[in-house]
Amino acid sequence: MARVYNFSAGPSVLPESVLKKAASQMLDYEGSGQSVMEMSHRSKVYESIIKGCESLLREVMSIPDNYKVLFLQGGASSQFAMLPLNLMNGSGKADFVITGQWANKAYQEAARYGQSNIVASSKDKTFSYIPELDPSSFTSDADYFHICLNNTIYGTRYTSLPETGSVPLVADVSSCVLSQPIDVSRFGVLYAGAQKNMAPAGLTVVIIREDLIGNARDITPTMFNYQTHSDNDSMYNTPPCYSIYICKLVLEWIKNEIGGLEKMKVINEKKASLLYDFLDLSKLFRGTVVKKDRSLMNIPFITGDEELDAKFVKQATAAGFINLKGHRSVGGMRASIYNAMPIEGVEKLVKFMKAFEVENA
Ligand SMILES: *Cc1c(COP(=O)(O)O)cnc(C)c1O
Repeated sequence: MARVYNFSAGPSVLPESVLKKAASQMLDYEGSGQSVMEMSHRSKVYESIIKGCESLLREVMSIPDNYKVLFLQGGASSQFAMLPLNLMNGSGKADFVITGQWANKAYQEAARYGQSNIVASSKDKTFSYIPELDPSSFTSDADYFHICLNNTIYGTRYTSLPETGSVPLVADVSSCVLSQPIDVSRFGVLYAGAQKNMAPAGLTVVIIREDLIGNARDITPTMFNYQTHSDNDSMYNTPPCYSIYICKLVLEWIKNEIGGLEKMKVINEKKASLLYDFLDLSKLFRGTVVKKDRSLMNIPFITGDEELDAKFVKQATAAGFINLKGHRSVGGMRASIYNAMPIEGVEKLVKFMKAFEVENA
């Protein structure tokens, strides 16, 4: 069977060359006589995989030396609790910008541990924009300031970062990590569930400034303490070995086949504008997000008629464009076009949408 074009928001498409390489190494990884799935995480051969993954991530993202890279489990969702447990230990306060469900979950979880403040929200317009931020409304002694850099469900992204002064800026980058260069030094913590743009599900990557490690609350479970994982090079317990291996292959793909994150960004901008330019001209479809805040990764759109939306999703699926149904909370459609979605996938989708428009206008 031919491969489909998979527009899933996550878990999502992986580069075909990565899947082929993994397939070729499935039974025998580099002469070890074993699959990566089978090997001891304490073995020399596995050590070279996890160390290689970390050093590639550091290189590709230009991560400064005073940051630790942690390979964890529990998803981005566990970070909603790990962050307050580890960071909310000064004033016990943290600031949040509510730009969608994930940002709201980070806020709600932190509210169980301390004083979480909402500094701005775009809930009034179904999260279709990034709110203007007024630094005078920020909590000056907050332990951290949290944003969700790319909002997977609603299709918005920050194009400039809040000025938080000495308050560590913390960002959920689950759905935009590795999609373009990012200045890691602007952040205290970056975290991502890997299943959008890095690897299969099971791996959570945390990039944390060293001085933010080591101040966890006493009640913090050992496994939720960043120090535990930092002190043990992400090997305190069994790490998600296979996901880390695929992550390494994805990073090799970005470095060697794409040519780094600047190039990745150019490709992603090209793919996104193919779809946005069509949506802006279409008489049937329209995007739901204000132009200046449009995501490069997740593109929601509607016809304005729920029945027609359903008809479109059904016909698209039959034509090999899968997972285009919008999130259950917003309806309509959403095309997630992560790094691994080839440009032909977007070109063909636009062509399909044009034909659907002609038939249904
Ligand atoms: C998918 C996603 C999450 C949830 O990730 P899990 O790994 O399933 O916990 C959180 N934040 C953002 C921005 C996401 O896209």
